[in-house]
Amino acid sequence: MGKPTGFLEIDRILAPKRAVSERVNDYKEIEQINTTADTEAQASRCMDCGTPFCHNGCPLGNIIPEFNDAVYEQNWKYAYDILSTTNNFPEFTGRICPAPCESSCVLGINKPAVAIELIEKSIIEKAYSEGWVIPFVPKIRSGKKIAVIGSGPAGLAAAAQLNKAGHLVSVYERADQIGGLLRYGIPDFKLDKSVVSRRVDVMKKEGITFITNANIGTSEKLANLTNDFDAVLIATGSTVPRFIPAKGDDAKGIYPAMEFLSQQNKRNAAISLEVNHKGEVYGNNDIYAKGKHVVIIGGGDTGSDCVGTSNRHKAASITQIEVMPKPPVDRASTTPWPNWPSMLRTSTSHDEGVERLWSIALQEYVKNDKGELEALIIGDIVYQMKEGKMEQEIINSRKIPCDLALIAAGFLHTDHNDLFEQLKAVGVKSDERGNLTASSTYQSDNEKVFIAGDARRGQSLVVWAISEGREAARNMDLYLMGKTNLEGKSISSFDLMAK
Ligand SMILES: Cc1cc2nc3c(=O)[nH]c(=O)nc-3n(C[C@H](O)[C@H](O)[C@H](O)COP(=O)(O)OP(=O)(O)OC[C@H]3O[C@@H](n4cnc5c(N)ncnc54)[C@H](O)[C@@H]3O)c2cc1C
Ligand code: SF4
Repeated sequence: MGKPTGFLEIDRILAPKRAVSERVNDYKEIEQINTTADTEAQASRCMDCGTPFCHNGCPLGNIIPEFNDAVYEQNWKYAYDILSTTNNFPEFTGRICPAPCESSCVLGINKPAVAIELIEKSIIEKAYSEGWVIPFVPKIRSGKKIAVIGSGPAGLAAAAQLNKAGHLVSVYERADQIGGLLRYGIPDFKLDKSVVSRRVDVMKKEGITFITNANIGTSEKLANLTNDFDAVLIATGSTVPRFIPAKGDDAKGIYPAMEFLSQQNKRNAAISLEVNHKGEVYGNNDIYAKGKHVVIIGGGDTGSDCVGTSNRHKAASITQIEVMPKPPVDRASTTPWPNWPSMLRTSTSHDEGVERLWSIALQEYVKNDKGELEALIIGDIVYQMKEGKMEQEIINSRKIPCDLALIAAGFLHTDHNDLFEQLKAVGVKSDERGNLTASSTYQSDNEKVFIAGDARRGQSLVVWAISEGREAARNMDLYLMGKTNLEGKSISSFDLMAK
């Protein structure tokens, strides 16, 4: 433990954010990089707990107390070595992870938690600037070939790990760019795309092959890959959006949030909008919020990303509606520490301006004579006991202006497309939600085919996708070689010291 009294002396202070008045005029990252001294002070707040709940809260099993201590001791290279043992891409999680580790940090019981995510981002950015992030080219190749379908965080993490184990890895991606939702979902103001490209460049130098515009199942049959490769990993994500049906839902001006968000990422990269994020020819169906009354249907993170993007487009008004009641401002008693807290979350996008409404039912999309959306009819949801039963009632129905409705109501399952049918034909099964199933070793009912990430667990988080990719890679290595040296999730500080 670095400084026994650090948590008593130093307050939790996060990295500075660019002023709202400045940042709403561009798509550059909002959060700035902390100074070395400030991050070392934050790391000194860690109590090096006997039972570090943070470690358990992290889906990757990041060895948090150890890298906190190394940062405090100004041993940044060692901190990077510790962090990169469990996390292939701290530059992603350090920017956009909701940080379940911080929710379970012991200091959080009666003080603000250790700023773990900030420390993680500072370590990896220092590692890049110091030249410590160098391509790992295996000295010996195993002679095994692996195809990874999908280049989101799950596919990328698996590819990095499998390459490390000496296998030759080819990553197939249907879009024109590598990165999955990191590239075409998450807005640039949260994750600049140069951060994704920087990592992909390292991976290319490590010997991983990337093939874009390769829609497996359509442009190339799955069977070609199962014949040519020793194993195949399916990491195709879960991006089929949930629609909110109501009267008038054929009006022009209603779009899934993902189309809106991915278009903006393409505009920023000066890429044509003709083809959507799925690689489908989409036409130049420009979805732009400038001067419009935007209503975002869905109160979660994707909805919040639409708020930030609509503010940058200079929408006339932005309203975000949510069917659930407003959560408590502080941690709800039903989710005590160290659980993930149920509480009101206010993102940087919300800080930029939006009207948020809770317990709202969408009753109708109102269109004009030309079939264009011009308003929504919404009502307040109230619950009442009637004859011993709780019943839902909608009151106070009203019309609100809306000429752009963005549906951010979650995702149903992985795409049920040609690839899905071909997977089923070779024995891969799907669950009741429509995602692909695999055993606890990520192996499907076809022994050559493994599944990881959102395609298996449903729409989730980047940190979980990385964790799944790493675990799947470990099990694929075991399947191919009969043994594996790849780190598992349960690596402990003792394993690290033994290395
Ligand atoms: C708008 C939005 C914002 C988000 N923000 C956050 C956030 O701030 N923090 C966070 O932790 N999580 C966030 N998430 C969730 C997170 O992005 C996902 O959980 C994560 O990206 C899943 O990773 P994955 O690798 O499983 O799949 P994806 O990232 O979805 O990648 C799957 C890839 O497979 C490709 N593919 C699919 N089918 C084929 C095929 N047949 N052939 C070839 N390629 C194919 C797709 O084109 C895609 O590139 C967000 C999600 C969305 C939609
Ligand atoms: S739980 Fe918090 S205080 Fe304890 S070791 Fe982890 S980061 Fe440090």
